[in-house]
Amino acid sequence: MDVAATLKAKRTELEASMARISAPPGDAGGISFGKRVGEGTSMAVDRLSLVAAHERLQMMRADVRRAETKLAEGSYGTCDRCGAVIIAERLEALPWATLCVPCASQR
Ligand SMILES: [Zn+2]
Repeated sequence: MDVAATLKAKRTELEASMARISAPPGDAGGISFGKRVGEGTSMAVDRLSLVAAHERLQMMRADVRRAETKLAEGSYGTCDRCGAVIIAERLEALPWATLCVPCASQR
């Protein structure tokens, strides 16, 4: 499989998800404004989990971008922290992995 294409597809997917999350819900066209009263609490919780989800996506996108840079540099497949070769099984499961298993578990 073409790693560069895989990384690019993943980054595109993450950016699309982030764009969806950061769009304020109900703001476009005012369609869902009818049910606002009394829903403040659950909306705040939703908002928090959205922010958390957005942060996760952002961190994953940073990993994908770093993996793309490593690919360009020729260091793809080696650990950013200790320089060890990242095992093939890990890269297959997580093509944007930039740390080996021991280093990733310390992160
Ligand atoms: Zn390492």
